[in-house]
Amino acid sequence: MIPNAVSYRLAKARLHASLTPGLAATYDSDGFALADIAVADGKISAVAAHDRAAISSGAVDLAGRIVLPCFVDCHTHIDKGHIWPRKPNPDGTFTGALNAAGADRVARWSAEDLAKRMDFSLRSAYAHGTKALRTHLDSVAPQEEISWPVFETMRETWRGRIELQGACLLGIEGVRDKKWFDRLAKRVAAAKGVLGVVTYMVPDLEELLDHVFAQAIKHGLDLDFHADETDDIAAISLKKIAEAALWSGFEGNILVGHCCSLARQPDLEVLDTLDKVAKAGLAVVSLPMCNLYLQDRRSDHTTPRWRGVTLLHEMKARGIAVAVASDNTRDPFYAYGDLDMLEVYRMATRILHFDHPVADWPQTVAATPAKVMRLDGFGTLAAGGDADFILFKGRSWTELLSRPESDRIVVRGGLAIDRQLPDYAELDGLMVE
Ligand SMILES: [Zn+2]
Repeated sequence: MIPNAVSYRLAKARLHASLTPGLAATYDSDGFALADIAVADGKISAVAAHDRAAISSGAVDLAGRIVLPCFVDCHTHIDKGHIWPRKPNPDGTFTGALNAAGADRVARWSAEDLAKRMDFSLRSAYAHGTKALRTHLDSVAPQEEISWPVFETMRETWRGRIELQGACLLGIEGVRDKKWFDRLAKRVAAAKGVLGVVTYMVPDLEELLDHVFAQAIKHGLDLDFHADETDDIAAISLKKIAEAALWSGFEGNILVGHCCSLARQPDLEVLDTLDKVAKAGLAVVSLPMCNLYLQDRRSDHTTPRWRGVTLLHEMKARGIAVAVASDNTRDPFYAYGDLDMLEVYRMATRILHFDHPVADWPQTVAATPAKVMRLDGFGTLAAGGDADFILFKGRSWTELLSRPESDRIVVRGGLAIDRQLPDYAELDGLMVE
């Protein structure tokens, strides 16, 4: 369907208003418009409202199929990915996940083990249509000395296919060892990474956050937090991060993931937090599949009654940048997943109600995470941009989100890529005890 040519034209593509800045066209109530796309030398040379004459003049007729820009996945853990067969979560709880993943890291995460699993993950993400991905990297000593060099090599190997970003990951109590943490911040800066920690309601949280912000300012790093991944209403570290951002005068980008407990808190508390988050310019990423899996997991095998996700609608209504992302894949934090951002968007639509109306929710898997990750030109379709897009079978939201779209066509630099997914059997050698 996509010509194997340096230049060609596509007619009657269905584009979404939220991801096609600058396209003057008549959009329907679902936000779609029919458009014609011209591709030349790997770039989109023109996008215009569909003109009936286009097909008779030789453009390929896409017959109203949806075309989206390639995905941006801003919160993943490809260092943990695919360890499930050798280290499952014994009971599906957050604690079970933390302990299992920690034990596996200590026992098995050599450079070779990491590189093979990370490459496997990236091949899946690429085949599904992802163009940029941020991974957290467990950076508890001595793992940081193993993982960061592997990450740097992997980023080079994948340059041009997936723009890879790395953020360090450690519990905030690790910041108490200031000498070690400052060294880690320096290492992250050397790798042009992002400074990340997991916040807990420890008594010295404010002091530790101050130190994290000070190190980020010192090295010019963006920040990325895991916050309040719990149903405990006393978990208010999102608010503490916003306060720290405001009083430190931090000017970089801050992304905060999870924020589950916010959805359980009283309205007044929520409003106060959201005011501060908006004022501080924080962006929030929800991880709907992982949250659904881990949150409200009941040890007595009764049925979960809470979806686990944070208040994205309320955040977006206040102008807070919101995204959704994959999070974990086939590891103790989430037994499933394949870094398929269409699956994430489909699940988010159902879990978080990204519908009726769809409005600009599609930005959560493309334009918004691209902005948070400082990736110009990513996550939108526009003239002058790279010809990187995904052609689906679906012609409407209900068609797009009802099937896996395993036969989608991913176009990179104007050419359809080989979408063969890696075979799980490739990992068998890493899974033996
Ligand atoms: Zn995470």
